[in-house]
Amino acid sequence: MLLKNCRLVDAAKRDVRVEKSIITEVGENIRQAPAETVFDAEGMILTSSLAEPHAHLDKAFLAERIENPSGDLMGAIMAMESSRGLITVDDTIARAERAIRLMVGNGVTAIRTHADVTEWNDLDSVEALLEVKRRTSEIVDLQICALLGWPLSGSDGRHNRELGRRAIKAGADILGGCPHLDEDPSGANIALLELADEMNCGLDLHTDEHTDANRVSLEDLAERVTQTGFKNAVTASHCVSLAMQSHDTQRRIAEKVATAGISVIALPHTNLFLQGRETTTPQPRGLTAVATLRKTGVRVAIGADNLQDPFNPIGRGDPLESAGLAILTAHLLPQDAFDAVSSVARQVMGLDTTTISVGQTANLMLTRAAGLREAIATTAERPLVMRNGVVVSSRLAAVN
Ligand SMILES: [Zn+2]
Repeated sequence: MLLKNCRLVDAAKRDVRVEKSIITEVGENIRQAPAETVFDAEGMILTSSLAEPHAHLDKAFLAERIENPSGDLMGAIMAMESSRGLITVDDTIARAERAIRLMVGNGVTAIRTHADVTEWNDLDSVEALLEVKRRTSEIVDLQICALLGWPLSGSDGRHNRELGRRAIKAGADILGGCPHLDEDPSGANIALLELADEMNCGLDLHTDEHTDANRVSLEDLAERVTQTGFKNAVTASHCVSLAMQSHDTQRRIAEKVATAGISVIALPHTNLFLQGRETTTPQPRGLTAVATLRKTGVRVAIGADNLQDPFNPIGRGDPLESAGLAILTAHLLPQDAFDAVSSVARQVMGLDTTTISVGQTANLMLTRAAGLREAIATTAERPLVMRNGVVVSSRLAAVN
């Protein structure tokens, strides 16, 4: 396959050849080979494809059915639990698949989704998402994180821990949980690390998703990961209350997070909606301390979290929308915001990354914009999306 007249991030005009899953040639005026498919990019920007490192596909598009009038996190959780009877496995499969196809059309080729695993819905979400993973295996890399309920520690946590074991055995990739909602956050961190060690999988924890400056379980998590020498990847999502600390405390915790090798995912979309409702002055922003974390060397990706459900009534399934929010709320430069929803997000997910050069895996997209800033500003159309050298979404006719 030959992509003619692509614009690269440095504004250079190049043709790019893809053979099987690999970029094999980048140059000017590359001649078409016999029987080669050719697309004319007409100066559109060619970049790596995008990734969504934190989704809840089992809840996508529930906003019409389940309301959250209080608008906060507990309001959303209670609304979900009281509406479990309205949700079936088949319905979850249909909504999740719809969300994935929407995201792929927006340039996403890798998604990590959390799947509720509680005593109310058992493994229903995991099984639904495993079916969705089978149905979409040709177009996206889908990672399933079993989001365990609480409590997790002691004898009271036995049932939730057993659900975690069953979820991994059923095919979930990694374990998750919400230590900040547990009566014993440290106990939950210990239990999750032990369980992930036992099941030999990674962790992605909803961490400190609140603006209470007196509660920070991220530091405890970082210390325990370092002390135990836990060998699989650990991600801390949200980490909102870190932003409520003094700068010295932020730095101290960020250094421990960096030492532990924990990645952080900031989720401006959903946290701007859910957080800070109980405090009017000064009103918190609901986002983690992105600048301090990045300055300390912590890998920070940006995700969307929820998509039109009780946790976030809006969203277009477009990481460029999240990148735009990161520019406004986390003050990232456009290039950094783009990386946070593409290469950095893929690194957090343990996936390889793509630059436009020979030998790279062809996870690519064309965006109808002249540069990254404009692509983010306009969330411009992505007429061609490629995963491992295969076109997974196209609104562009081949010219030959
Ligand atoms: Zn989440």
